[in-house]
Amino acid sequence: MIYHHIALNVPLSDGILTYAHDTALAEGVRVVVPFRGKPQTGIVWATGVTPDIDTAKIRKIQTAFTAEPPLPEAWRKLMAFAARYYHYPLGQAVAAALPQGLKDAKPVVLPEPPLFYGLSETGRMQTPPPARFHKKSALWQALADTDGLPLPALKQINSQAGKLLEEWAQQGWITAQSAAKPLLRPSAYCLNEAQQNASAEIQTAFGRFQPFLLYGVTGSGKTEVYFDVMAKVLAAGRQVLFLLPEINLTPQLLKRVEARFADVPTAVLHSQTAAGRRTQDYLRAMLGQAKLIIGTRLSVFAPLPDVGLVVVDEEHDSSFKQDNELRYHARDLAVWRAKQAACPIVLGSATPSLESWHKAQNGAYRLLELPQRAHTAAKLPQVDILNVGRLQLDNGFSPQALSLIQENYRNGGMTLVYLNRRGFSPALFCGDCGYTFGCPNCSAKMVLHRRVRQLRCHHCDHREPVPYKCPDCGNQDLTAVGQGTQRVEEMLRNLLPQAAVVRVDRDSTAHKDDWAELYRRIREGGVDILVGTQMIAKGHDFARLNLVVVLNADGSLYSSDFRAPERLFAELMQVSGRAGRADKAGRVLIQTQLPEHPVFSAVKMQDYRLFADRELAERKLFDMPPFGFQTAIRADAPNVAQAMDFLNGIKALVEPLLPEGVTQFGAAPMLMVRLAERERAQIFLESSSRKNLHYALDLWLQVLKQDSDRHIRWSVDVDPQEM
Ligand code: ADP
Ligand code: ZN
Repeated sequence: MIYHHIALNVPLSDGILTYAHDTALAEGVRVVVPFRGKPQTGIVWATGVTPDIDTAKIRKIQTAFTAEPPLPEAWRKLMAFAARYYHYPLGQAVAAALPQGLKDAKPVVLPEPPLFYGLSETGRMQTPPPARFHKKSALWQALADTDGLPLPALKQINSQAGKLLEEWAQQGWITAQSAAKPLLRPSAYCLNEAQQNASAEIQTAFGRFQPFLLYGVTGSGKTEVYFDVMAKVLAAGRQVLFLLPEINLTPQLLKRVEARFADVPTAVLHSQTAAGRRTQDYLRAMLGQAKLIIGTRLSVFAPLPDVGLVVVDEEHDSSFKQDNELRYHARDLAVWRAKQAACPIVLGSATPSLESWHKAQNGAYRLLELPQRAHTAAKLPQVDILNVGRLQLDNGFSPQALSLIQENYRNGGMTLVYLNRRGFSPALFCGDCGYTFGCPNCSAKMVLHRRVRQLRCHHCDHREPVPYKCPDCGNQDLTAVGQGTQRVEEMLRNLLPQAAVVRVDRDSTAHKDDWAELYRRIREGGVDILVGTQMIAKGHDFARLNLVVVLNADGSLYSSDFRAPERLFAELMQVSGRAGRADKAGRVLIQTQLPEHPVFSAVKMQDYRLFADRELAERKLFDMPPFGFQTAIRADAPNVAQAMDFLNGIKALVEPLLPEGVTQFGAAPMLMVRLAERERAQIFLESSSRKNLHYALDLWLQVLKQDSDRHIRWSVDVDPQEM
């Protein structure tokens, strides 16, 4: 008997269990084994191991899919790293990274390699079809000009390509081979100087690991830079991994890719593609058949035998972080993969994450800039900050906002009314001097709990009574933020009964088809006023949109989440970038009670650097990321006291064993304490040393894994993105 370690999706010994087989199986082979009376699919993780349990107890592997290619070593190393870094059981991490078809206990159907067609020797000696049959002639010409083109590309030239190929093949005029160098179409544009420089710099790093931060305002032509570099890598026959936020992976983007890379075998990995299709695309990537792999965060786990370039668009986007099970950050793993594969990686954004910006500042990443919009005519928007502190608002609208919206409607423009929902927590501030209430113990802002008349810190659980005056200026009229914006749509419908008002949020665009439909309506000019939250801010280019009204930006500024201002800034920049993209400058009106806040001046000047430098200075002061590192340990229970007690009990156990420079904050109730009939609390471990932080987390996990209180569920989140 040969003993094997098998990675399984089971909650036992990190999902690595020992099974026996008559012969040695290759590592990475899929197998089916019995587990608690049921067949379970797993991956061979190690062969020829010495069992550490009684061999009589070791069960046999039932089936080994040896006809399938094993999951490659580089992929297994990636999974091992992800499991270790995110402190997640390896077997379960593997399950989170595989498509359904590879988790089923049956063999997969391997995808056929794509065929590339061209003219054979005899074909080349034939007289081409006469030019007056111009479609037929064009197809012939394409076949004559190429080393090999796949059917989809030929169908673009002549929709009858399938039938004609068959006819010509019968004459012996056609060759079909399973590998070819794609014939790439040049860009429709001539890249401008900044684009050319960026592309050239990236190309100097081919064949070695080098991260680039491509910083360029919305519309500056980042995508054309990615395409230019991608074309070079694809022309060399190597693979490219292109990651995008879910919301940017639109049919429009795919069309743009297809227009440029029609003859490149492409795999699209998206959480919404059907399981069967996703499995096939995963396999095509793994077998090297697909050369261009486009996808959302989950595609960072696609096995890629020959990757020569990784691109992460909108690298600051929070959708790259998975917020359940294996809580990975796809951007960070993408950098790891580029290093593993010794290839360049391009992180692109108009508002880079402060983590990436910091790395570009200290030289770990190379900064590339596109300072101007690509259409020379496109102008930056005019941004006005309106102090609404002393104004009477009508359902959240100032009189100025209402008249701008009316006027824009009369002039045939399209308006976006933008609501900020995320990172929102009720807070107290001074309407006179703008003072906000920070926690005396840590860097978080305190949250207003009206019923108990307290300010509470959700980071360290400090509590104090609501003050009756401003500690800075003595003003006794302290204001609470959080006016409702629920009635915005009604308000607008009453104001302009003739206008087409459409709301966009998670509910109204639950399906990708909903979004595609809405997008079509907007493009066709069927929408006058769009009411939306974060979703609408990203990546969409609406020619008629020329006015953006931001109703309630302030919530983020008092948020207990230290990243809230960063997100607000990115969203305001994006939302204002939406306005006036074509030829006329757009207008942006931001309502706020804190007009002096640096976020707003930076948005007004459209100046990311100004914001980033100031925000980083503040982070540094408090040792917050990217200067220090964090891990959250969360627990939920029927009531929050149980969750807090559970965490505090372990905190006390671990405290004397903590390595130097690691601090524990909390336990504190989570901001949204109740979720699905459970109540949640969390503790933060913080340190400027990742190593010490991971050591402390291991201490926690030793206790957590032994603790068998059935009422409590717990999880850990390394580098949490949401507080
Ligand atoms: P980003 O990805 O930075 O938002 P895009 O690459 O989408 O920018 O480019 C914005 C717009 O400018 C697109 O409509 C694109 O087709 C156009 N564009 C990009 N590069 C050029 C160029 N060199 N010359 C003219 N137009 C360009
Ligand atoms: Zn605190």
